[in-house]
Amino acid sequence: MVKDTKLYDTLGVSPSATPSELKKAYRKLALKYHPDKNPNAGDKFKEISRAYEILSDEDKRSVYDRFGEEGLQGGGAEGGMSADDLFASFFGGGMFGGGAPRGPRRGKDLLHPLKVSLEDLYRGKTSKLALQKRVICPKCEGRGGKEGAVRKCASCNGSGVKFVTRAMGPMIQRMQMTCDECNGEGEIIKDSDRCPQCHGAKTISERKVLSVHIEKGMTNGQKIVFKQEGEQAPGIIPGDVIFVIEEKEHPRFKRRGDHLFYDAHIDLLTALAGGQIAIEHLDERWLTVPILPGECIKPDELKVIPGQGMLSYRHHEPGNLYIRFHIDFPEPNFATPEQLALLEKVLPPRKVQTPPSNAVVDECVLATPDAQEQARLDNGDYGSSGMDEDEEAGGHPGVQCAQQ
Ligand SMILES: [Zn+2]
Ligand SMILES: [Zn+2]
Repeated sequence: MVKDTKLYDTLGVSPSATPSELKKAYRKLALKYHPDKNPNAGDKFKEISRAYEILSDEDKRSVYDRFGEEGLQGGGAEGGMSADDLFASFFGGGMFGGGAPRGPRRGKDLLHPLKVSLEDLYRGKTSKLALQKRVICPKCEGRGGKEGAVRKCASCNGSGVKFVTRAMGPMIQRMQMTCDECNGEGEIIKDSDRCPQCHGAKTISERKVLSVHIEKGMTNGQKIVFKQEGEQAPGIIPGDVIFVIEEKEHPRFKRRGDHLFYDAHIDLLTALAGGQIAIEHLDERWLTVPILPGECIKPDELKVIPGQGMLSYRHHEPGNLYIRFHIDFPEPNFATPEQLALLEKVLPPRKVQTPPSNAVVDECVLATPDAQEQARLDNGDYGSSGMDEDEEAGGHPGVQCAQQ
């Protein structure tokens, strides 16, 4: 069940539509309502494009299915594609109007993964990151030479390619080749007229330092977008530089949403009779937490300290710190029989387990599997390695049983 079907209705498909059905529906409607073809359609083209942009993205679609349009508000610094960009990326541009491009082409986005520690995601941080990129040559403003120095290549008529007709046996083949006069650039600059700074390349390499603001509460996969900071070239709109946050593993905490999980090891006496734990937080504070006498914390018990988790993105509301307790038991033979007798006075009485009176009883002895065997079992390898298949199952070399 989906929360809302509006976007599906816009494309005229059912919420169970496959990606290829969505694609087909979008193709049909986008061609029909494109403003070049259907100027009176109003915002219909934009609506269709928006619906397709969301539903064709697996992540966005699942958010929309679960939470409807509200789920898509906010939560990410990136902006969506414009209807025209989407149309161009779908149909390869130049669909209408005799192949004339609609506005300038857009350069590629540059994606950079950015490894960020949990500390930095907790406190927020600004990192300066240097980027090497091509920018329009300031000397010639991207012309490549003096005013009028750049001529359209006559050999290829500025297209950069030439067509050659070749006979291949009985077939005549028309082949496209890079123009050899201009090396495919479509224009020619006399060497003496070339711009002294870019040597006719129109762009130069430049180092640009970006201040990347990692805001408190940002999450793994979140994007920080620098609009149009991508590579420059004449006649194109630069793409964006996009940093994608990769949260580093933390030695003490695991993050789940805005909550933190911490494993605390305490000894048995602390678990039973009280004591204290100390937790180093993500901002150099230490939290001390008393364990009350008699609180009797059990192995794997989960406790919570409200408000000491991560701070949420934008609103900075704190999540919780969950503590999973592990009890370190004393070593074997930690106490004398007399001391154990004292424990008997304090602890609830032991429950001795006995079989029914008519049962056949084997009295057994416990042994401890060696480290190698334990590791093997922990890895899910239960094979009877080293054991003869004929050997009776259940017979373990460490455990001797004697029938009474
Ligand atoms: Zn040429
Ligand atoms: Zn130049």
